[in-house]
Amino acid sequence: MFDALTDRLSGVFDRLSGRGVLSEKDIDEALREVRVALLEADVALPVVREFISKAKERATGEEVIRSIRPADQVVKIIYDGLVEMLGGEAAEGLNLALNPPTVILMAGLQGSGKTTTAGKLALKLAKDRKKVLLASLDTRRPAAMEQLAMLAKQAEVDSLPIVPGQSAPDIARRAMSAAKLQGFDVVILDTAGRTTIDEAMMSEAAEIAKIASPTETLLVADSLTGQDAVRTAKAFHERLPLTGLVLTRADGDGRGGAALSMRAVTGLPIKFLGVSEKIDGLDAFDARRVAGRILGQGDVVALVEKAAQDLDVARTEAMAKKLAKGQFDLDMLAEQFGQMKRMGGMEGLMGLLPGVQKVKKQMAEANVSDKTIDRQMAIISSMTKAERKKPDILQASRKRRIAAGAGVDVAEVNRLLKQHRQMADAFKMMSRDGGKGFARMAGM
Ligand code: GDP
Repeated sequence: MFDALTDRLSGVFDRLSGRGVLSEKDIDEALREVRVALLEADVALPVVREFISKAKERATGEEVIRSIRPADQVVKIIYDGLVEMLGGEAAEGLNLALNPPTVILMAGLQGSGKTTTAGKLALKLAKDRKKVLLASLDTRRPAAMEQLAMLAKQAEVDSLPIVPGQSAPDIARRAMSAAKLQGFDVVILDTAGRTTIDEAMMSEAAEIAKIASPTETLLVADSLTGQDAVRTAKAFHERLPLTGLVLTRADGDGRGGAALSMRAVTGLPIKFLGVSEKIDGLDAFDARRVAGRILGQGDVVALVEKAAQDLDVARTEAMAKKLAKGQFDLDMLAEQFGQMKRMGGMEGLMGLLPGVQKVKKQMAEANVSDKTIDRQMAIISSMTKAERKKPDILQASRKRRIAAGAGVDVAEVNRLLKQHRQMADAFKMMSRDGGKGFARMAGM
């Protein structure tokens, strides 16, 4: 589904890698091409805008890892952006209820692949040794009920006996009581779809959701329908408490933009991809794998990740040496912030240094959250080199200049300086025992 996008992007990367050092102009040009490639892949415009502005910020803000070619770092930046766009690193599987049965409600337009996906999910869960009951609530199309019963046979799970003439809410109630009486772990309710968004369909699905209180309400959307799929998802999400998305026909030659926009536009996690007509054609969604496939540059990404890690280790050691001597200037603070961000927030590097609990506590008290880190880094980068080394020289006029440069008020500059002073004092105290804690840590 992403072939065209992959081709376009590898063209961009090829042109970049022909160059040694990348100027800002090179990066701008590359990002412009990435922008066009995403738009041509039918990714929603606001999503593309956000992606490009973040990538640009990272490309210009990121420190250069010397051992890695700049072009490869750009690949990594685009990869990280795609992973984020697709919902982040942690794959979100199905949530199961603490007290069985878990109810999974399937919603979506007719023809989206809803019934097929219900069967695929049943098979997946059965393989995990769950006792699954499939129930079709599609009273408008008896054929849909038959289809689900056939899928149940294929997946070797039970399906709720068909009782002609029963209403959808009544079938839902019957399914729930059968599940409880017969000890099913999971009940999958397949609701009726329509060819377009329709009030009767929505209110029926909403009523069923009330009756069955599903743990998961999954919207099934056809990725071949592009931006229509995104609009459908939005419309359903306004009426139903959706918990996730399934994109079908990821094996088709759609342009992929729907898959890429869906998460950002709806805020819902993509949980599965339908990848064939067969009953085992359902893949758990994994943002890293999909981003890797789109870029087709898995080895480059791994290389840059490794180099960045090595760099962090080297920096940590260098910093520990300085700290052992009681040195802690604003450059070092900025580096701490940078590492915290790279390592996933407050619990990152600080947690690795021995004896730093106290400083960490101070930082928490000083309200150094991940949200404020960006602003604090902006303050430090508005200082001159001399100011960062010796913050004592900062009098009122310099502080005003720095505050204006960072777009904050002077009070915030003062807060940062105070916090830095407290940390520097704490490090000085710790170094009085001969810096043993730090030295041990740095392997000196
Ligand atoms: P429903 O009306 O939403 O219940 O749609 P169905 O489950 O009946 O699916 C409609 C058609 O799409 C069927 O022919 C399915 O075999 C096909 N289909 C469903 N999911 C996929 C998929 O992931 N890939 C492919 N290639 N076809 C699919």
